[in-house]
Amino acid sequence: RQPLLAVDDLVVSFDGPLGTYRALNGVSFHVDAGETLAILGESGSGKSVTVRAVMALLPRHSARVERGTVRYAGEEISAKPVRRTRELSATEIAMVFQDSLTALNPVVRVGQQIAELFRVRQRLSRREAWQRAVAGLDRVGIPNAAKRAHDYPHQFSGGMRQRVVIAMALALRPRLLIADEPTTALDVTVQAQIMDLLRELREADGMAMILITHDLGVVADVADRVAIMYAGTVVESGPLRQVYDAPAHPYTRGLMNSVPAPDRPGSRLTPIEGMPPSPLHPPTGCPFHPRCPVARANCRTDRPTLRIVAAGHQAACHYAQEVMTGVDTVKGAA
Ligand code: SF4
Ligand code: MG
Repeated sequence: RQPLLAVDDLVVSFDGPLGTYRALNGVSFHVDAGETLAILGESGSGKSVTVRAVMALLPRHSARVERGTVRYAGEEISAKPVRRTRELSATEIAMVFQDSLTALNPVVRVGQQIAELFRVRQRLSRREAWQRAVAGLDRVGIPNAAKRAHDYPHQFSGGMRQRVVIAMALALRPRLLIADEPTTALDVTVQAQIMDLLRELREADGMAMILITHDLGVVADVADRVAIMYAGTVVESGPLRQVYDAPAHPYTRGLMNSVPAPDRPGSRLTPIEGMPPSPLHPPTGCPFHPRCPVARANCRTDRPTLRIVAAGHQAACHYAQEVMTGVDTVKGAA
């Protein structure tokens, strides 16, 4: 069975003021139809760059995809003109970002913004399109939707505005929703409501979701599988419970140990001792070796790649099997 989205060995460079650096250094993961994949990582680990690369939304002048492939439903979209990705992003793949204000046009009524999608993409009449927009707003839990459809974005609270953005993203019933920290800008109560909403809609529509977050609590609530990013690469991926119960990468292990209650929403990733490496001066060998409590000599020279450690579970560590099974070896990771 082919995955809905498959990313393989993606390498992306940026030209920054201090020189050229690799923001992504070999990112691989996949999402199956109907499942939720959480991409988890500290800020700067490459989560957002990854989805922007997938959606051909990288800044044209400073970013360069050097290597790697992106396949959507078997079609290699990374090899096609950006136009093809744009087509898909209008109908098949939708995105919701952290900042709902930038996703909406401030001078157009929200009902009109959603209705426009139905007019352009489905050639519905003005009247039908408006009705569908109102229904969409109602579906995401906006009270009094028929009236609120006439309002402008600034007339909504942050949480309600994020609901509008979700209504717009889901209007054309995409098969994949990419949500990049969709609740980070909201207060904790509203965060939980928006996550509940996303989960309900995802289940109702049977769509797949990539949820980008640094919130372990959110991951525990919604994800089927998880991919952990560190320094521009995926260091571990697998079924949620498997990765939580038996992490195979010392970085993941450190994350799990650093959070007292992984089931509580709002519990943030506490960074492990030390700092992530500067992308301008990446370490040789394993990118985690300067912080790794179990690093050995070859970790400084040989870069580990993702390898299967259990069914559907992969980790990029030379000593993954030991990390996964031998608690003693990795005591220091706590
Ligand atoms: Fe640590 Fe070595 Fe594994 Fe990297 S490869 S995570 S340095 S043990
Ligand atoms: Mg980000």
